[in-house]
Amino acid sequence: MIASAHEVSSAGVWVSDPASYFWLDLADGTTMEHRYLSETGVELPASGLGTWNYTGGIEPLRTGIALGACFIDTAESYGTEEVVGRAIQGNRKAVFLATKVSPRHFHHADVITSADRSLRRLNTDYIDLYQLHWPNYTISIAETVGAMELLVDRGKVRFIGVSNFHLRDLKNAQKAMTKHKIVSNQVRYNLIDRTIELGLLDYCRQQKITVIAHSPLASGPSSITAQDPEGVLEKVAKNRSKSAVQVAINWCISTRGIVTIPKANSMEHVKENCAASDFALSVEEARLLETKIKFSRRGPFELALRRIARHGLQMIGKNQ
Ligand code: NAP
Repeated sequence: MIASAHEVSSAGVWVSDPASYFWLDLADGTTMEHRYLSETGVELPASGLGTWNYTGGIEPLRTGIALGACFIDTAESYGTEEVVGRAIQGNRKAVFLATKVSPRHFHHADVITSADRSLRRLNTDYIDLYQLHWPNYTISIAETVGAMELLVDRGKVRFIGVSNFHLRDLKNAQKAMTKHKIVSNQVRYNLIDRTIELGLLDYCRQQKITVIAHSPLASGPSSITAQDPEGVLEKVAKNRSKSAVQVAINWCISTRGIVTIPKANSMEHVKENCAASDFALSVEEARLLETKIKFSRRGPFELALRRIARHGLQMIGKNQ
């Protein structure tokens, strides 16, 4: 059975801390760390639930919510808004719901229509976090964010976020906002892709924009182990009596301010992931993972090339 926010509060203990605080779920003994969403005062679990390629049905999502991962990420392009809508029925207020509008819908009227369609599929009357899925270089960002701000004014959206926006795109979007703020940027971050460490992460911290790390397991744990010739992930996990997946998730969220959204189809995986934030890696453990596991950080030149390629494809109606 899923507890409502109030029931959950009455079953556990909050441990205060100025920057973040911990949720102790006394019912099953797991602990979920929380982080503030920007300066909104809203607390998010450090580890939520992703739903790209999700095929697990409602039960794994409900289990995740009951274990404190009450932050679900979806998108109009994922085809999973309906199942998320079913999973949160009767429990809407306990869940922080994030979805995304696709770049091909970034004209003003299309943003509004997309939001209404997402609301219908999610079977709710508000979206907590509405995100621009990728930049669209063929449509004025001012037009797009104007529509997003209108959705906030109409009470259909609580907060505006972006996704896959690198520094330049993020600054342009911020400049175009007239009355609300961008509260989050959802970007790829994991042990083998650390691109955001080259400037974006620091900028988001300065601006108090929450980084939501997508693909924390690099879209499959085997991608990480393939880059770990000495098996340090397993070694750290063994020392901690945790699994390699839990250590990989924990490494993402141990960076202050970051929350993450692993996707898992099975109940077992969801339970394992929900127990990934109840410990802190030591400096030595983090250093071992960061030096022994091979990773990439795409620099400004490569990011600029990707931006040009994306722009070119969008001009011919693709990559949207
Ligand atoms: P991910 O979370 O990095 O990895 C998912 C894979 O890891 C699945 O194969 C899953 O298997 C497996 N897994 C999960 N928990 C596991 C466990 N405890 N033990 C073993 N294997 C486990 O992949 P992702 O889907 O790329 O990223 C997560 C979420 O981020 C997405 O679902 C989506 O919400 C978001 N995302 C956003 C963007 C964007 O452009 N904004 C892009 C990519 C992803 P099972 O499913 O079989 O459990």
